[in-house]
Amino acid sequence: MKTATPSPASLLSFYPSRCSTLERSEIRHMAKRRLTRRQSWRIEKIQQERQARAQRREAHVETLLEDEHLGPEQEGRVVASYGASVDVEDPAGGLHRCHLRQHLGTPVCGDHVAWQVGSRGNGVVVAIRSRRSALIREMPDGGERPIAANLDRVGVVIATRPTTPMGLIDRYLVAAEHLGIHPFLVLNKIDLLEPGELAELEESLAVYSRIGYELIPASTVTAHGLDALRAALGGHTSVLVGQSGVGKSSLINCLIPSVEARTAALSEATGKGMHTTTTARLYRLPGDGSLIDSPGVREFALGHIPAAEVGPAFIEFRPFLGHCRFRDCAHRDEPGCALRGAVDSDAIDPRRLASYHRIVDSLAGGEPGQR
Ligand code: GDP
Ligand code: ZN
Repeated sequence: MKTATPSPASLLSFYPSRCSTLERSEIRHMAKRRLTRRQSWRIEKIQQERQARAQRREAHVETLLEDEHLGPEQEGRVVASYGASVDVEDPAGGLHRCHLRQHLGTPVCGDHVAWQVGSRGNGVVVAIRSRRSALIREMPDGGERPIAANLDRVGVVIATRPTTPMGLIDRYLVAAEHLGIHPFLVLNKIDLLEPGELAELEESLAVYSRIGYELIPASTVTAHGLDALRAALGGHTSVLVGQSGVGKSSLINCLIPSVEARTAALSEATGKGMHTTTTARLYRLPGDGSLIDSPGVREFALGHIPAAEVGPAFIEFRPFLGHCRFRDCAHRDEPGCALRGAVDSDAIDPRRLASYHRIVDSLAGGEPGQR
């Protein structure tokens, strides 16, 4: 199956770290020709200097923090993270640029944190509260990095054009379920449909509503469905994910009309430029609820999960799992397969079982771009 799911390598390219790019080019050069002793010495020296600079920076921040008279501990939420510092929103909506205490770990957008205000107006994060859930990004080296925390809703955006293959919709749903988050679907750009086409499309997507996924037809052009979308997001911390071009940015602009202004206000309040690299941002929705967005969040894809965890992520399979004759049933041609039985009795849609097999096969094969 060929999908538009980006490979982990292309995911990384959203966050080019200047340092690692430099190191990579050094490594490439090293591979091309043997280094003279002088060159090796120079590289080592550069690395030592870099390390010393980083240590000095850290020590400087720590000294600043010690010198300052810090206020009492308060609760807040990370609304943007820049690596070495974060923007924390206090319960009254005030924004504070905060440094991080050493050995704190990395707070990410959506984290609930304890922080203290400093005498110079900025603050320091002293504790990260435990996370209810986290969106994890798989790195090409096999490592993992959280990019957003404490999400409770994932909206999978699909469109009338470009259409999203069912297999890819299932991958998004499975990825969300695997995080323990119940997703919903947004069918955007319904203004492009001829009369009667919507009913047809809804019928083909009814497989999802039958198993409990809400489907919200919407259009950013006619504003159709936006109230239903607001209701689905209300009171939650959500992300909108989906293929490129389905209209996620357009939907976010409709939901948060001041999204640009808000970004500018954030930058102004915290004294950082608009183009400061940030991994993600949390936007308050008018009313109640918040939306976390970033290019990385939008590229949300199914990570490399153990094959045994794929089945339960197909929610309608759950009552049948564990009831096959063979404990290691692959749900293909084995006799006494409870999932096949459920397909025969129309309790499971055969397309969903086929999707399940494609996902398990792609995980086993480890094809790049399919994970
Ligand atoms: P993203 O890549 O998912 O963020 O998609 P964008 O928000 O950038 O939208 C991709 C294209 O679809 C843009 O040209 C939008 O103007 C267009 N678009 C977004 N929503 C709608 C819609 O509801 N109807 C129509 N006709 N076009 C839309
Ligand atoms: Zn089976």
